[in-house]
Amino acid sequence: MRPGCHPPFSGASEANRVLIVLRHIAKSPIDTTVRNPIQQTMALAKPLLRLAASVLLAAGLAGLACAQDNPAAWITRLFQPPASAKVSAPTDTTQWSGQSGASGDPRMTADAIRAAAADFGNCIAALWPDAERRGITRGAYERLTAGLTPDLSIMDKLDAQPEFTKATWDYLDLLVSDDRVAQGKALLAHYAPTFAAVERAYGVDRYIIAAIWDVESDFGTMIGDRPVLRSTATLACVGRRRDFFRGEFVAALQILQRGDIPPDRLVGSWAGAFGPTQFMPTSFLRYAVDFDRDGRRDVVDSIPDMIASTANNLRMDGWVPGETWGYEVTLPQHFNYLLADSPRQLTVRQWENLGLRRANGEPFPRPAERGGLLLPAGARGPAFLMLQNFRVIMKYNPAEAYALATGHLADRLRGGSPLVHPWPRDERVLTLAERYQMQQLLAGRGFRVGEPDGFIGPQTRLAIRSFQGSVGEIPDGFASSEVLDRLRQR
Ligand code: CA
Repeated sequence: MRPGCHPPFSGASEANRVLIVLRHIAKSPIDTTVRNPIQQTMALAKPLLRLAASVLLAAGLAGLACAQDNPAAWITRLFQPPASAKVSAPTDTTQWSGQSGASGDPRMTADAIRAAAADFGNCIAALWPDAERRGITRGAYERLTAGLTPDLSIMDKLDAQPEFTKATWDYLDLLVSDDRVAQGKALLAHYAPTFAAVERAYGVDRYIIAAIWDVESDFGTMIGDRPVLRSTATLACVGRRRDFFRGEFVAALQILQRGDIPPDRLVGSWAGAFGPTQFMPTSFLRYAVDFDRDGRRDVVDSIPDMIASTANNLRMDGWVPGETWGYEVTLPQHFNYLLADSPRQLTVRQWENLGLRRANGEPFPRPAERGGLLLPAGARGPAFLMLQNFRVIMKYNPAEAYALATGHLADRLRGGSPLVHPWPRDERVLTLAERYQMQQLLAGRGFRVGEPDGFIGPQTRLAIRSFQGSVGEIPDGFASSEVLDRLRQR
């Protein structure tokens, strides 16, 4: 049920796992286990990080920064697959666990993975028509895919979903720490002229860009070092996300053929996201801009290109200049929780008339804005009024916890306060298997949850609400262990 995929994050390994998790849920997770020398330097010494970044910025500003229809079958046959791809064999299986994936998808069994890996060369060869339609030359295709082998260790990551068992508050604790707020403020001060120029050009709030930069890669220190072409090729040919990654693989070929980013710098997460703000190849093609005007769109090593490309991405996804992402709100007593998660957006004034107030006691600055209500932890947790820009952040990385962390971090960077309402930290977070079961049990009772996938989104929450209402409980839509117990009983 998730749309697309990607991403990563912080210096601490736990934080990295969280980023990976969020990416996993959303775009496509990021690999944080390996860093390039520059990244290692950055992680070891924050002052050095800033120095290195400023050098890159200076270089970038000086223009020196390193930034149809299906063809007939006979045409396909006319072009023989690249010899290199034909003979390539899976050589990098040493890091793969050899285990079947946890998803239960038939393409993720150990046997299916081995079979797909053995057929990798043919699979790459069969992708040539896609590449040709996208303007890849035969020569470039052969050169770029020569010697390409699958990285099967990605299969363990594709189906490892520990993050699904993490609570929203755990994400926020890790992603919006005081340390990160301090880092972000220093970064905003250091690149103030670039952020200002990008704000003028794209109308996107600098604090959101800085927050995305932070959440995605811990300010560029955790961007992964797997070759994007190899990762996307692997995922296009092996495992359960092939259709999605075929496009990413071809997009990676396009980036390399155009020379926007050199092959040794087009590295990133296991899911193919690269650069400090973790662009997927197709997103790069759509949104990247050459802000430092050196002729290349380089979201990896040019900070102006990276900041501006991220802003352009948000703008083209519908960012509303001058608005924020949302507000923490306080609900009145006896609130009708069925109003949460509604696809119908009310104006802030209408929400006020229903009794909502900003949690920090301040007035809503723009009563005509429209938004919806989100209760990530049910009636016992904080509530948020989400505006259009929240949905834009969700397009960048479609995980509510990600969007919430990014928006809240942006507020903190702007000088805002921590959340007012506490989280229900005593709640036991359901495992992925339990969430699957909850969806299956709901479906078995006739509540619509779509295809059970272990992901608790608006549709599942609506089903939970309906179930809660049917048994006389507060319909807050929270997938609690209590609700699961109740579903199992009846
Ligand atoms: Ca450039």
